Amino acid sequence: MNKTAPILVQGAMDIEIEVLKNSIEDVEEIIIDSYKFYKGKLEGYPIVISKTEIGIMNCGIATLLGIKNFLPCIIINQGTAGGFGNIHRGDIVIGQECFNLNSYKTPYLKKGEGSNPFNWELQTFQEGIDQFEKIEADTNIFQFIKTHEKEIWNGSVVYGTIGSGDCWNQEIDYITYLNEKYEALGEDMETIGAYKIAHRYEVPIVGIRVISDNEILQEEYDRTLADKAQEFAISLCNKWIKEGNK
Ligand code: SAH
Repeated sequence: MNKTAPILVQGAMDIEIEVLKNSIEDVEEIIIDSYKFYKGKLEGYPIVISKTEIGIMNCGIATLLGIKNFLPCIIINQGTAGGFGNIHRGDIVIGQECFNLNSYKTPYLKKGEGSNPFNWELQTFQEGIDQFEKIEADTNIFQFIKTHEKEIWNGSVVYGTIGSGDCWNQEIDYITYLNEKYEALGEDMETIGAYKIAHRYEVPIVGIRVISDNEILQEEYDRTLADKAQEFAISLCNKWIKEGNK
């Protein structure tokens, strides 16, 4: 590992970076184009905390600024997410893959024929090719988490796909559809923005989400669970600093 390149840890809201900020030393606030970054040290290793703000676009911009200004060795995007299926509040989801919930083409319907989201085809629009695409987490970090899971975290950890978009779905049928058709374990509003930019710039990234709500299990949104994803991220950083990427 490049011993001078910092780890970039991202969170969207103040509550999603507070624990991180309190865990690092020599903190310096740096504002770049109105996005906030906190530079410091964790166990003597350089780390940058980034407040991405909410949503795909904000997160994409903050990721680009983070990469360009701090040249991180890895990026950890973390925060809260809504759980699909049988994943409980407080469980951790590692985003092995991520897709954009907001990128779709609808079939043609005539005036008066209404609208049916179950017929919308999610796809990534690319010149020449339009197809459904999932973006993957960095294989090294992902495998590192799997291998060291029990040393990093004392709790439930699930590995799989995160759906990500500027939306908050509360319809059980649609949530079930996303879970079954696209194998989404949950949804958030930032991961895809971070994955997309990190891939473009070839910076290894992993997304870590704590489930803060689950409509299917009738578990209401609890934003204070944001602490848990940060604690997981710190624990992962500590392990990675000591043993990662050898
Ligand atoms: N106004 C609320 C919610 C903010 S937006 C608050 O201040 O707490 C929701 C944030 O939580 C986003 O950053 C998103 O990534 C995450 N999130 C948690 N549960 C979600 C869900 N069910 N759907 C979409 N995003 C969710």
